[in-house]
Amino acid sequence: MNNNNSRPASDDNTDAFLKSLGFPSIEVHQSFSHFDFTRPGRRVLVIGPMGSGKTEFAARVWRDASVAVSKGPAVKALTSTGIADRRNVFFIRSVLDASRFEDYPADALPYRGGYVRCGENMARISDSFGLEKVLEDNPSVGTFIIDEASFFDERIVYVIRKHSLQRGVMFVMPTLILNFRRDIFNSTARLMLDIATDVIPLTAYCDHRDCLDGAFYTYRYYNIDGRECPALYFDPLIIVGGDKEKSGSWAPNYCARCDAHHYLPGKEYTFFTLKPLGEKAAAGDSAPLERELALLATDKENSALFCSMLEQYASLPDREVYLDSIRVDFIAEKALCYLVCEQNLLTDDQVVSIASRLGLNTKYLSQILTDNGRVIDFGQRLLF
Ligand SMILES: [Zn+2]
Repeated sequence: MNNNNSRPASDDNTDAFLKSLGFPSIEVHQSFSHFDFTRPGRRVLVIGPMGSGKTEFAARVWRDASVAVSKGPAVKALTSTGIADRRNVFFIRSVLDASRFEDYPADALPYRGGYVRCGENMARISDSFGLEKVLEDNPSVGTFIIDEASFFDERIVYVIRKHSLQRGVMFVMPTLILNFRRDIFNSTARLMLDIATDVIPLTAYCDHRDCLDGAFYTYRYYNIDGRECPALYFDPLIIVGGDKEKSGSWAPNYCARCDAHHYLPGKEYTFFTLKPLGEKAAAGDSAPLERELALLATDKENSALFCSMLEQYASLPDREVYLDSIRVDFIAEKALCYLVCEQNLLTDDQVVSIASRLGLNTKYLSQILTDNGRVIDFGQRLLF
């Protein structure tokens, strides 16, 4: 018996229907429905980690629309607001995403196991102004699927809301919402949660070999000599790279993990130790920060980071995986990048002089600083 008053009437109807067929009392889940093109102005967020079928969901919207389009004129009245018909679907993705789809035809909406071709109803944009142009050029389109909408500028959120409110246009947005730290991905993702009318959460299987639970989280790890080495909490927020399997310290791998197998070492250290050291350096005393960075660069097992992890994880069954996180190279560079890009604590000159004194890898450092929006040219500066 389910006495929950908030249960939708359609679920009670499903229960009654199944009972009428002679099913015994069983757990009834919500049925998979065809996509609803009748309600105007919906902003549908489809969220989940990689491998959860976000793009496949988008492809299903596309296939459902092709069925709806074959119906008679009475349906058109239900699915249209003005000249925009929501059965007319358009697929939008980023110009930067070309490599993700390089094995498919240029107009393909690919998903695991296949793809649909969008023909003319597909565009690549680089920002919210590009979306506005596509919307203006296609006034009869009533549904826009925007792949990875949170990768675009914040302004896109308000372009989406405006067109859905003013013209009844529907937006379907398959996107990552959480980053590898389990934080909201960025400010665009935060704003998209604000304006969404529907949220469809999808899960993948947890990628851990001993687990069959559903996975909500994106896990970042490095493959060092065949070992899974979790990214530390202060690993750079953005590391530019493709989808392919990587090994070594330069580029991480990603997979979907459940709560128990999503290892994220060093969070406490980041706020308890690293950030205060950065604040001290910002106030003029950089010696304590440099001491810790020197240990992270050359004598990791004596660093405050390692001590903190031993204290926190030593008694856990998965302690080895947590501690393997320090097998990754460039931890001092990552720590410095975190203090510069995310906490805005050090000047360019401080970064250059610390990197020089400690002999840090400036090639790696300048790469991750650039990826995270801070360009420091180590080659052009006087190293002292
Ligand atoms: Zn798991």
